[in-house]
Amino acid sequence: MNRKTFINTLALTGMAGAALKLNALGKLTDAMNNTEQMPVLFLGHGSPMNAIEENEFVKGFRDEGKNITRPNAIICISAHWETAGTFITAMEHPKTIHDFGGFPKELFEVQYPAPGNPQLAKETKELIKKTDAGLDEKWGLDHGCWSVVKHLYPDADVPVLQLSIDYRQTPQYHYELAKELAALRKKGVLIVGSGNMVHNLRMAAWDKLNETYAYDWAAEASEKMKQYILNGDHQQLINFRNQGKAFDLAIPTPEHYLPLLYALALKEENEKITLFNDKPVAGSLTMTSLKIEKE
Ligand code: ZN
Repeated sequence: MNRKTFINTLALTGMAGAALKLNALGKLTDAMNNTEQMPVLFLGHGSPMNAIEENEFVKGFRDEGKNITRPNAIICISAHWETAGTFITAMEHPKTIHDFGGFPKELFEVQYPAPGNPQLAKETKELIKKTDAGLDEKWGLDHGCWSVVKHLYPDADVPVLQLSIDYRQTPQYHYELAKELAALRKKGVLIVGSGNMVHNLRMAAWDKLNETYAYDWAAEASEKMKQYILNGDHQQLINFRNQGKAFDLAIPTPEHYLPLLYALALKEENEKITLFNDKPVAGSLTMTSLKIEKE
């Protein structure tokens, strides 16, 4: 090491020390560099088998992973983590949760060992004013998260956090809470909602899981949802319970739909929405996914 390099190294070490002190004072955002505003994704995750199958939807996820600037971290709002209260995973090493039954052994063997980011968890907690969000040490990554994030970042080298859905709250509440996450987008955080816009498992035509097929009501609900999304008419989407029979059948329970509201809440005026994987499967599910980004 020459003298100049040595001095530069000393200077850098000093800066790192100062950054640590700031962190200790609670200025956690300083630990992550400012970045261009990251896009926001809503991903239709569908069957857990998408985690290990090769199909057009998996390809759609993979293509997005390649097109987006590599994030510093991901925060995923998954349909499969509902809690009383809002929680953020805060462990160093979130475990891969196999929260499903009746699938092949191969699917239970999948591990997605992405690290966590306890510091970002604390920062996210501080950003949320709507409620006193809790830091969670027990959850991990459920299949709503890993089965899709796995295709975006196959090497599991981007830290992943999950934010839970408070099942006691209204759609309006979730939409407003999501808005409080906006600042994270400029810290290189990719926010991902994972669910399905149309999701009625009880009515699914399982023999048509690998076919592009929608019941009339599913097609109707899907078209209306996309119209509202592309027109920026979020209030109609928040008031999904007043949209009639097709919506009631498409959203029998709200957990797969609410992650869409988390994504849309983060859309800014100057941003556009691109749909992808926009197809129905098994009659009563849609895989429709979207990306929000600068024009
Ligand atoms: Zn699901």
